[in-house]
Amino acid sequence: MQDTFKHKGLRQKLVNTLYSKGIRDTRVLHAIGNIPRHLFLDSSFLDHAYQDKAFPIAANQTISHPYTVAFQTELLKIKIGHKILEIGTGSGYQTAVLCEIGTTTYSIERQLELFKKTSKFLPKLGYNAKQLIFGDGYKGLPDQAPFDGIIVTAGAPFVPKPLLSQLKIGGRLVIPVGNETSQIMTLFIRKSEKEFEKCEFGEFKFVPLLEDKN
Ligand code: SAH
Repeated sequence: MQDTFKHKGLRQKLVNTLYSKGIRDTRVLHAIGNIPRHLFLDSSFLDHAYQDKAFPIAANQTISHPYTVAFQTELLKIKIGHKILEIGTGSGYQTAVLCEIGTTTYSIERQLELFKKTSKFLPKLGYNAKQLIFGDGYKGLPDQAPFDGIIVTAGAPFVPKPLLSQLKIGGRLVIPVGNETSQIMTLFIRKSEKEFEKCEFGEFKFVPLLEDKN
């Protein structure tokens, strides 16, 4: 596993691109500047790793655009030590961003192949999530709730109730909501036991958050 000066230079350019697109959270920019994204992609895409593009990973899934990762992470308004739940581990790139920033990170993946691959890979790079879980993200992680933030990295047809109920008061849920072709990035802030503030942030395109029918 190699990370060269060339890769570091390309990453700095990517950070500049994200800044020019409006990302301002220095912790997010710093994390993206540090993480060797090329190692999260299949070797055939190595040369493209630091363009602001999404790419296929195993099991027909995608690693999100760096801009999307940065935008969603910024919306979480993370502080060091926050307890964050990610739904859709995938390649583990977003998980690595959360670990790099210094959160206590939990992440759920429903595809066994990806779960196994990423569970082995992340610790090799030095990213130790508190827990990687093979399971259904629609249910959240009631055992470890409440969370300061929950980030959903697949397009949800609706907002799963358990995710809202697993937020701390003041906690934030960042979730793309919509159909298979496009979703609206949506932020819910828990104001009290029963009240949530909702804000919308434009269109994005994710692979679907799949429901297990059994
Ligand atoms: N955060 C990932 C993005 C991966 S794409 C990254 O940085 O690479 C979205 C992921 O969500 C896929 O791996 C998909 O298998 C997973 N997913 C879809 N439905 C899910 C569900 N109900 N529970 C958990 N993971 C789910």
